[in-house]
Amino acid sequence: MDERKGRRIIMFPLPFPGHFNPMIQLASIFHHRGFSVTILHTSYNFPDPSRYPHFTFRTISHNNEGEDPLSRSETSGMDLVSLLRLLKQKYLESFRESLAAEVGGGDTVCFLVSDAIWGSNTEDAAKEVGVRRLVLRTGGAASFCAFAAFPLFRDKGYFSTLDSRLDDPVIELPPLKVKDLPVIETNDPDELYQIVTDMVESAKSSSGVIWNTFEDLERDQLMDLSSNFHVPFFPIGPFHKHSNDLPPKPKNKEDNEITDWLDNQEPKSVVYASFGSLADIEEKVFLEIACGLRNSGHPFLWVVRPGLVRGTEWLESLPCGFMESIGYKGKIVKWANQLEVLAHPAVGVFWTHCGWNSTVESICEGVPMICTPYFTDQRVNARYIADVWRVGKVLERSMMDKGEIEKVVRSAMMVEGDGMRDRCLDFKEMADKSLGENGSSSNYLDKLVRHVLSFDSYGSTC
Ligand code: UDP
Repeated sequence: MDERKGRRIIMFPLPFPGHFNPMIQLASIFHHRGFSVTILHTSYNFPDPSRYPHFTFRTISHNNEGEDPLSRSETSGMDLVSLLRLLKQKYLESFRESLAAEVGGGDTVCFLVSDAIWGSNTEDAAKEVGVRRLVLRTGGAASFCAFAAFPLFRDKGYFSTLDSRLDDPVIELPPLKVKDLPVIETNDPDELYQIVTDMVESAKSSSGVIWNTFEDLERDQLMDLSSNFHVPFFPIGPFHKHSNDLPPKPKNKEDNEITDWLDNQEPKSVVYASFGSLADIEEKVFLEIACGLRNSGHPFLWVVRPGLVRGTEWLESLPCGFMESIGYKGKIVKWANQLEVLAHPAVGVFWTHCGWNSTVESICEGVPMICTPYFTDQRVNARYIADVWRVGKVLERSMMDKGEIEKVVRSAMMVEGDGMRDRCLDFKEMADKSLGENGSSSNYLDKLVRHVLSFDSYGSTC
């Protein structure tokens, strides 16, 4: 540990929970290995630094005049592609300046870890100040194979004919179907193409890619990618299961209520439903979900984030008497400590949008899934969950009526017969094994630490 004193990593997460959470977990893994960590974070969605006392936080503002988060009015109603473009436009120049300031002072800066989506500009910024850059890919390897194939998909005309051939196979990338291609509904598909290809190129030009996955889950996809990338890969996931130095999240009243409620349910009886931090749904779909969950007859814990339902604040569109009709059987909350919920013995099935973190978190607790993907990599993840790993069932967005929801929830709760839960528990075991002595993720982490300690940071030894 001593030999690493004074060695510092700079990290640059994308400011969304699905990207920040794995970055902070990775920060903690490095900290546990003796590195100090500085997080450069956008003023947009700036986290509470008091929750992460081991790390130094610096704010990157977008106009060089202090802390000035992008205002709600600037970003509300924006599609994700426009928001990503705005974030890149507003913050990358300030990032460059902040990185230079960090490298100029104090401890030796060993390297930069930037989220792959920030793209190639972060490579230029790192080169300018003479540090190496690794990228963190917060999604899985299978979906990255699809992102890396965007130029091919465009040449073959997939994007221009998407809607008319949704159920056709993507012959270049089985088992994907056209409807699984990781696109986002946007008015600016060219911008999406730029963001994706920049992400892929930025991984190729890095000094290595860190993945929140493990070999037994995505061996073939990692091998396919690494044969084209020519940079070292470090699949060291699942991040949240490593020994780390993150203090436990302080519990609030709502967390305690959730735990009490779960404690009062039968083992494996609860449907946990959550669609992540970014997806939104129409009010009509929201009402179908509400009735479908209630009519399934199973206890359910449902995260309805403020902002989930388009055009409403929270639950006000539920019909009069709905909450009374579910009584103690259903619990609706604004946010939950998902890691704790999935680890609770009462949870039987996770109805998810298949964000990569949610996917890995569910697999690591041996909880089978109902998959309703919304956009981007979620679609690829859902196909793999259902057809490759066979630890979940798909409930498509186009099928979201209460009768269908009730049917799928009931059949998902009877998974014992079809081997789904056993397969899921097998993956949980593989994940645990990968982090044990001589497990693949532990070995890759050792390699990663050796790799970063060998950096000659463009001249000076780190
Ligand atoms: N999450 C949580 N509580 C919630 C909903 C989500 O703690 O009520 C966490 C979840 O554990 C995961 C992250 O937020 O780590 C969501 O990331 P994911 O990749 O699943 O989806 P995204 O939000 O990026 O679409």
